[in-house]
Amino acid sequence: MMLMIYKCKCVCTSRIISKVTVLILINSSLAMSKRILPIIQHCTHPRVLIRQMSSSLSYAPERKQELVQNYENIRAQVEEYSRQSKNDDVTLVAVSKLKPASDIQALYDHGVRHFGENYVQELVGKAKVLPMDIKWHFIGGLQTGKCKDLSKNISNLYSVKAVDTLKKCQKLNDTRKSANGSVIEVYLQINTSGEEQKSGFSLHDKSELFATIDYFMSGNASYVNLKGLMTIGSFSESLSGEENSDFKKLRDLKSELEEKFNLKLELSMGMSNDFKDAIIQGSNEVRVGTSIFGTRPTKS
Ligand SMILES: *Cc1c(COP(=O)(O)O)cnc(C)c1O
Repeated sequence: MMLMIYKCKCVCTSRIISKVTVLILINSSLAMSKRILPIIQHCTHPRVLIRQMSSSLSYAPERKQELVQNYENIRAQVEEYSRQSKNDDVTLVAVSKLKPASDIQALYDHGVRHFGENYVQELVGKAKVLPMDIKWHFIGGLQTGKCKDLSKNISNLYSVKAVDTLKKCQKLNDTRKSANGSVIEVYLQINTSGEEQKSGFSLHDKSELFATIDYFMSGNASYVNLKGLMTIGSFSESLSGEENSDFKKLRDLKSELEEKFNLKLELSMGMSNDFKDAIIQGSNEVRVGTSIFGTRPTKS
């Protein structure tokens, strides 16, 4: 490290070179380390351009081309279905779980900002090494005990979607407050298919769902905002070829809650194999992974 600082100083004070690029090789664990800061601070000299180079963030041009092509293909379809169904307010979230940070960097360099992740530790690690203006969507199942890890460690956490208990909402709010972070957009997950292995608020007994919305409207929830509802429809519904009844249930619930509580809610529904139906049925946000990044490795 000391040697690097010394070299940077030499470069900065050299009169021969008018502009230089300093490449700093860092690995992800070093990225935020205090040892690298003196170098970065020193190299704010106008004649030195800092390039952060990390083995995990450099990508092959062919990989970028492939990702951009996939992304643009999905984006064109999202636009097409939005226009057809006169539902012109649809966000495309690129779901990058279990894919390397370099894939995210490649799409970021293409201008993409909305990325979705499923695992707390993986997201914390990626958020550290990737640009700060990424809007992170945490879409995975969240345990109450992990709420703090998310809200404390990810200042650019934009939304949390699979929230399924009142307690988790309170935990997110309170830990975000103590971290003095920005407001987190929350989507309540609804178990529309009634499948036992899926999480989410029940449609049969809505008492906890109502209590949770009361909490958001109480004025105590100043670090979380109730943005909308999300669901993962059943696989069979996504292939039925008819109107997806899980998506219909979510839209009906939205209308019911909007009237009962006098508020506005958005819908996050639709993944690689059913996002078209979801948009036609009123989705405001689709979460697409496989069709952009390719098949995923199995989680170890
Ligand atoms: C993984 C995941 C997605 C993306 O699924 P694909 O089928 O790969 O598009 C969307 N939403 C949630 C909640 C997920 O866990």
